[in-house]
Amino acid sequence: MIFSMTTVTHLECSVTGERYEAGKVQNLSKTGMPLLVRYDLKTARENWNREWLANGPRSMWRYAPVLPVAKPTSIVSLGEGWTPLMKLKRYGGELGCNNVWLKDEGLNPTGSFKARGLSCAVSMCVELGIKKVAIPSAGNAASAMAAYAAAAGIEAHIFMPKDVPQSNYIECKAFGARVTLIDGLISDCAKIVGDRKEAEGWFDVSTLKEPYRIEGKKTMGYELAEQMMWKLPDAIFYPTGGGVGIIGMWKAFDEMEQLGWIGPERPKMIAVQVEGCQPVVRAYNEGAERSQFFDNASTVAAGLRVPKPLGDFLILQAVRQSGGTAIAVSDDDMMRAGVRLATEEGMFIAPEGAACMAALEKLVGSGFLKANERIVIYNTGSGLKYLEAYSALFPR
Ligand SMILES: *Cc1c(COP(=O)(O)O)cnc(C)c1O
Repeated sequence: MIFSMTTVTHLECSVTGERYEAGKVQNLSKTGMPLLVRYDLKTARENWNREWLANGPRSMWRYAPVLPVAKPTSIVSLGEGWTPLMKLKRYGGELGCNNVWLKDEGLNPTGSFKARGLSCAVSMCVELGIKKVAIPSAGNAASAMAAYAAAAGIEAHIFMPKDVPQSNYIECKAFGARVTLIDGLISDCAKIVGDRKEAEGWFDVSTLKEPYRIEGKKTMGYELAEQMMWKLPDAIFYPTGGGVGIIGMWKAFDEMEQLGWIGPERPKMIAVQVEGCQPVVRAYNEGAERSQFFDNASTVAAGLRVPKPLGDFLILQAVRQSGGTAIAVSDDDMMRAGVRLATEEGMFIAPEGAACMAALEKLVGSGFLKANERIVIYNTGSGLKYLEAYSALFPR
């Protein structure tokens, strides 16, 4: 038995709770805040059962009842999700931890977890009849959007910093997207999309400015629970740029509790950033509800170069409510940890994931985490997408 109908009911402003209609083109709420998708979880609970998941597709679409797509024919899938969760025996062992796991999102289409968000967002574009999309991106969101737009036959307009990793540029071009390289950061790219979208007829797929990328990314939370036999870990390390993954997983945990699939326990959510761009860590340390624009943001972890995340308050809420923390690491420590993981475990991960490894070393060292805790690290991308960054360590 597979129950695969969406149970979506409406969208809701993440600040005021004001309701918005589902099944219509939506960006931000009237007050300029991200919208969250809501479902009839009571109906889902009556008609759906976690034991049936094994009969569903081996992709994130196994969670279709809590995804927003109404018609199965709208789904644009390249096999995203259902990524492996692997135990880090040696790396963890050397830190004295015997329960460290890595969720390897680098195995997604286009080599990053951005595939989950964009599969969902582009599927909704198909459902709503949207023909032209635009995105400002630090790199991997652009690659994923270009891929799914190509698969859907939708026109993609991409704006990214001119020093974006070569992989992202080449992928976007190969997927047939219209690419503009900007002398600036993702925030500058976002401004251009904002200024031009009306005249050009583009739908803006910016992080959190449309409601469906969160829904795709939240499946990381469902999958983790399923792979851990419905007992969430004690701590989750997440490399935080725009924070969509953390916000999405936090939402997924609440939904799963309402479905009766997990209890009220939550992992400590640990937002990892880099010293060269750490707006969330600063806000966390200052006890602030929102972040300040981080000037002169700089790091080789392109996905973490987000100087002012729109959903900062949602990230900070999840971190604080969970008893987690926010921590920054240096680029040097990050790259060293990435190479150490590759050497010891045979996994070549993105610098963003490597930042989590460096943060793990720090938090075990400081005693914030205990050796016997169950710890999950999100590696959000493949190391193969960052050959320039790794080349600096291995000159020929
Ligand atoms: C985009 C990106 C991030 C940050 O993701 P958010 O969910 O927006 O915080 C981290 N790592 C990689 C590899 C990325 O592409």
